Amino acid sequence: MPTDARTAPRTTTGLRWPIEPLQGGWYTAAEHAAIQEVVTDSASWRTGWKGPQVADFEESFAARAGTAAAVSFNSGGTALEMVLRALDLQPGDEVISCALNFVGTHLPAIHQGGTLVLAEPDPLSLNLDPADTEQRITARTRAIVLTHWNGHVADVRPFLAAAARHPHPVHGPARVIVDAARACGGTAPSGAPVGREGWATMFSFESKKLMTTLGQGGMVTTDDLDLAERLHRLRTYGGRDQWGTNQMLTKAQAAVGLVQLRRLDEMNEARIARAHRRTALLAGTPHLTLPETVHGRRHLYYRYNLLVPEHWAGRGRDLLMETLAADHGVGSLINDPLTYDGHQYISGHTAGQRCPRAEQLAARLLCPVLHPLISPDEESVICQAIRDATAHVANVIDG
Ligand SMILES: *Cc1c(COP(=O)(O)O)cnc(C)c1O
Repeated sequence: MPTDARTAPRTTTGLRWPIEPLQGGWYTAAEHAAIQEVVTDSASWRTGWKGPQVADFEESFAARAGTAAAVSFNSGGTALEMVLRALDLQPGDEVISCALNFVGTHLPAIHQGGTLVLAEPDPLSLNLDPADTEQRITARTRAIVLTHWNGHVADVRPFLAAAARHPHPVHGPARVIVDAARACGGTAPSGAPVGREGWATMFSFESKKLMTTLGQGGMVTTDDLDLAERLHRLRTYGGRDQWGTNQMLTKAQAAVGLVQLRRLDEMNEARIARAHRRTALLAGTPHLTLPETVHGRRHLYYRYNLLVPEHWAGRGRDLLMETLAADHGVGSLINDPLTYDGHQYISGHTAGQRCPRAEQLAARLLCPVLHPLISPDEESVICQAIRDATAHVANVIDG
């Protein structure tokens, strides 16, 4: 039986290599200096409010993604909510998204009045499966929300093509909205930077993400200037003619974001190097399916996905996580459980929908901690722990 968030292993404190929610960001003297500068120029009562930081951050971000616009928000969750709001969904309008996902990706589709349609993941990358998605497109499909799962950059093009083959009778092809919260700085299979493809792409700068703006923050990139204009108004009290609220990033966050953006490749490369080394050290470990190795920045390893064999699903996976934590001090996560197992607002809304492949994969998935600041020596110890704990579970399950 698949397990879910409620039955997942509980050893999370006192770990030698802890996993979230504790993780902070990777900051250097440059971020400290940027904050200090912001404090200094905010200290005037005449002019202290305004500064170039937010606009500069947006401009640099758009330049890197190669888009006409980038609009910052106080979180990735807010950013995605506002992109979906801009669709003006009507009752019955459908939004397709992968069942294996973060709850924050699904909540806005429901809250903005759409019907969330769950689809299956690809068995290895765990990204939304384009063929399964196409089967679920109907005359009511308004959007496809595609998440680059745990840093593995998906190919956006098949989703654009599928949407174009089955256009909505009034609104045309479904909008492809990309959730790149875990893929900032990545490169798509087409060679385009993450953020360039699709109608709009959302990024998160929350504390654990690949770059962070002091713990919270978000961004949308798009070539659609009408959308960018609408997002600007939603972000600051609706302009003159519509609802809006204050969803601004602070200038201290933007100043730090500018530094983190400059350092993004260096931070991502350190993480990718850790992941590739882990894959080399774990190669050939019986029972474990390792994440695919793709080159360049096509997989950023926000998380390092391991899959246990099908007959270990649930119980064996939970035992592996518990053994890693209790015997080796290595934290791991189910990142993430199915959204309809982990959240009642989503399970209530999607009652009756099932994705058997996603359920099976969610029960086989674990993500042992991976971080660019873990040293190579520590990484060797973690890999040995994974091998030992897996052998222990094999003894228990397979006898
Ligand atoms: C973090 C995250 C979000 C939400 O971003 P916040 O900035 O934390 O609101 C959305 N989707 C995915 C896949 C995420 O990992």
